[in-house]
Amino acid sequence: MRYDVAVIGGGPSGAVAAAELAKAGISTVLIERNLENVKPCGGAIPLGLIEEFNIPDALVEKKLSKMSVRSPGGRMIFMEMPNGYVGMVRRERFDSYLRDRAKRHSTEIIEALVREIKKDGDGFSIQLSKGLPPVKASFIIGADGANSKTAEELGFPPNELQVIAMQQRFHCCDTLKPYEELVEIWFDGDVSPDFYGWIFPKTDHIAIGTGTEFRKHNLKELQHRFVQKIGITEKPYLDEAAKIPMKPRTSFTQEKAILTGDAAGLVTPANGEGIFFAMRSGKLGAHAMIERIRNNKPLKSYEKNFRKLYAPIFFGLQALQFVYYKSDRLRESFVAICEDRDVQRITFDSYLYKKMVPAPWSIQMKIFMKNIYHLVKGS
Ligand SMILES: Cc1cc2nc3c(=O)[nH]c(=O)nc-3n(C[C@H](O)[C@H](O)[C@H](O)COP(=O)(O)OP(=O)(O)OC[C@H]3O[C@@H](n4cnc5c(N)ncnc54)[C@H](O)[C@@H]3O)c2cc1C
Repeated sequence: MRYDVAVIGGGPSGAVAAAELAKAGISTVLIERNLENVKPCGGAIPLGLIEEFNIPDALVEKKLSKMSVRSPGGRMIFMEMPNGYVGMVRRERFDSYLRDRAKRHSTEIIEALVREIKKDGDGFSIQLSKGLPPVKASFIIGADGANSKTAEELGFPPNELQVIAMQQRFHCCDTLKPYEELVEIWFDGDVSPDFYGWIFPKTDHIAIGTGTEFRKHNLKELQHRFVQKIGITEKPYLDEAAKIPMKPRTSFTQEKAILTGDAAGLVTPANGEGIFFAMRSGKLGAHAMIERIRNNKPLKSYEKNFRKLYAPIFFGLQALQFVYYKSDRLRESFVAICEDRDVQRITFDSYLYKKMVPAPWSIQMKIFMKNIYHLVKGS
């Protein structure tokens, strides 16, 4: 059988794309190398995602509206989201739920590793592991993560800026009690010289992690120092690590194939948020595919739409990371600015729904002046 579309990778991006295609009556196969995969991830998702993709309450282990940020000198800023929350999910449950949803819409699911993609007439022949016969498809969606085999096989430009992140899961214990209903972020050069450290609670564990630019620093040492600084003496029950591609590829669309999510490099700088953009790109990509198949519309509308919607957010967060993540002095200034209520409101509003709503001119000026003040003062 030849499918209209083969989706390679069954994370959030591939599962959403497959569900959208199958729902529209497009014959779709989803190829995932490991259906038991536990993707290393903090699992923090914004309210806007939960609403848009109808994520059931049972999957959202915590709804956290309290957050604190910590500076290198130990200054703490506590914040509260008045109009929403960060949802915490466990990826092994979340991804599996999204794949089941795709299956319910009649996506065929194959568990196998994609080894090679060959041209086959006007489509593709996808070579699989486990001695399975090749899958034939007219179009491909590469949703196979930061080390995308699809991108390599089809000759997409490289995935450039990559952070490598590590996370450890700890059972709840006395030291971690204060974190059971709180998201905490550490901006501290000892924990990460160019990113940040996080403490995210789930129902049965607390996830603690940090990241840094790939091959620049010793990630294990950074994580060790973080855990020591928090004061945890218990051992973690799970260590996990993976790359985070925080720069969109220069192109993620071809005539008959697209990349979505991490495969396309769609994780925002500064905060490393990728689940929302993976699911959103999966949806936008699938809709462009449907238009291509039904009305012969070019696939490039997908990339154009994605960039139009989200390029300002990527640009803004890249600028923030560039200015503030370089030294402890700058991180100290950044945390000081977080104390401003308007900064908090703008940050939460844009995080929750990914919409940049411009603040009134007077507030923009006030924030700008505060930035200058704290940058000069160094705190
Ligand atoms: C430590 C860490 C913490 C993070 N925390 C957060 C967070 O809190 N919030 C957030 O929004 N983002 C977070 N991210 C980023 C987020 O995890 C990713 O952006 C998101 O998973 C991207 O989804 P995806 O579907 O594009 O790719 P993935 O989730 O990586 O899924 C790709 C899938 O493809 C499969 N695959 C790969 N190669 C092949 C192949 N050759 N054949 C078949 N299948 C293949 C894999 O098994 C996998 O299931 C974090 C990342 C890391 C590393």
